[in-house]
Amino acid sequence: MQCIKTKLEKLENTMEISLKVAIIGAGVSGLVAARELLREGHRVVVYEKSNQPGGTWIYDTRVESDPLGLDPKREIVHSSLYSSLRTNLPRHLMGFSDYPFTDRVYGDPRNFPGHEEVLKFLKDFAREFGLTELIRFETEVVRVERFDSGDDDYEWVVESRTSGASGEEEFQAVVVCTGHYAEPIVANLPGIEQWPGKQLHSHNYRVPDPFQNQIYHVYKDGTIEFQDGSRVYTDVIIHCTGYKYSYPFLRTNGIVSIDDIRVGPLYKHVFPPQLSPRLSFVGVAYSVGIFEVVELQSKWIARVLSSKAILPSEKEMLVDVEEHYRDMADRGVPKHHTHKIHPHKVLCPFLQLLIIRIVSRMFEYLDMIADLAGVPPVAKRIKEIHKRFLGLVFSSGIDTKRYRDEWDPNDI
Ligand code: FAD
Repeated sequence: MQCIKTKLEKLENTMEISLKVAIIGAGVSGLVAARELLREGHRVVVYEKSNQPGGTWIYDTRVESDPLGLDPKREIVHSSLYSSLRTNLPRHLMGFSDYPFTDRVYGDPRNFPGHEEVLKFLKDFAREFGLTELIRFETEVVRVERFDSGDDDYEWVVESRTSGASGEEEFQAVVVCTGHYAEPIVANLPGIEQWPGKQLHSHNYRVPDPFQNQIYHVYKDGTIEFQDGSRVYTDVIIHCTGYKYSYPFLRTNGIVSIDDIRVGPLYKHVFPPQLSPRLSFVGVAYSVGIFEVVELQSKWIARVLSSKAILPSEKEMLVDVEEHYRDMADRGVPKHHTHKIHPHKVLCPFLQLLIIRIVSRMFEYLDMIADLAGVPPVAKRIKEIHKRFLGLVFSSGIDTKRYRDEWDPNDI
């Protein structure tokens, strides 16, 4: 009898858990999530409203009908890239642990390449790992909702639209990878409604040509007054005031909500405790090295879904989120920095100390996710490049506008 029991236990342990998972979005986060879920034996469908993979990295010459991006009826252009954009991180920090960007050069060999190079890299990644064929292009998700399937293990219904037709499909889990640089925030400036000039959000900036000779012209009613009383005269205001998180398709009866750029509650920026592990988010955390963090978060989700990594109880996760919020409040960190991994309110007077604080917070988060997932941490060399890079950006010793061309991370 004991022998049969042991055999059964062994069989159970070796049985693969394979779930049917919907991934929403085929940017960096959705692509790496798809790869990690596949590697764990899950069955994956990726929904993507665009006609190609790459997300933010697909440069779009179009701008939105409302240049401030406030009209809810406008057609949303997803990418915020401008034509001349070069990466602000070296390619060494924009690859995957086993698929480095440094190994692939497509025509722009610079350490900080133009955006076209990143898109080519991501498309290659999608092709090489067989992800392209899993993506349903030009298919926008309009509703994700939990339903009671009785004994059945299917929990989520995903409603999507393609070429005007809509359809529904049931899944056992959903991973949200829709990015957070498409819904502009515009500051509320008194008197702005009387502004005679042009206004736009940086989301709708593509090329400089329309603004030639327009900056800092003396203009009778074009005065902007700053808090210190100083004034400038200008024709155009470009609002570089950031973006908000937006999940218009997600129906959770208020379990997951967005309040002042806080998506919550999310355990470690990934799992909503009451709906985990069958609902998760990749890429919500920022200021941390996006490529490393989304790869680790994806591994964590994939392993939790196959029961190789175990989450704490719902109550413990909620307590953890509350502690995070309390810690932020104690340190005077505003709510809208909830998902910023190193939310420093003021610049530390000692540069070295500031850099040490920032990198230790970043690495602390990355190491914690690796540990929770039960996978190896980010490579030491990558961490060293992050450290040196931040030192370079913050230091006054080098012209930060030119650091892209003067610094060579290959020396590390
Ligand atoms: P996204 O790339 O935004 O992808 C989300 C995808 O979801 C999109 O393809 C979108 O079409 C799809 N989607 C959204 N809603 C739906 C829906 N309802 N149904 C179906 N599909 C949907 N990072 C760096 O590492 N280095 C840099 O130099 C750098 N520069 C940047 C410059 C700018 C101007 C911006 C805005 C960001 C920059 N970033 C940079 C950060 C960048 O966002 C990340 O590199 C990365 O692209 C984030 O990927 P993501 O997959 O999370 O989101």
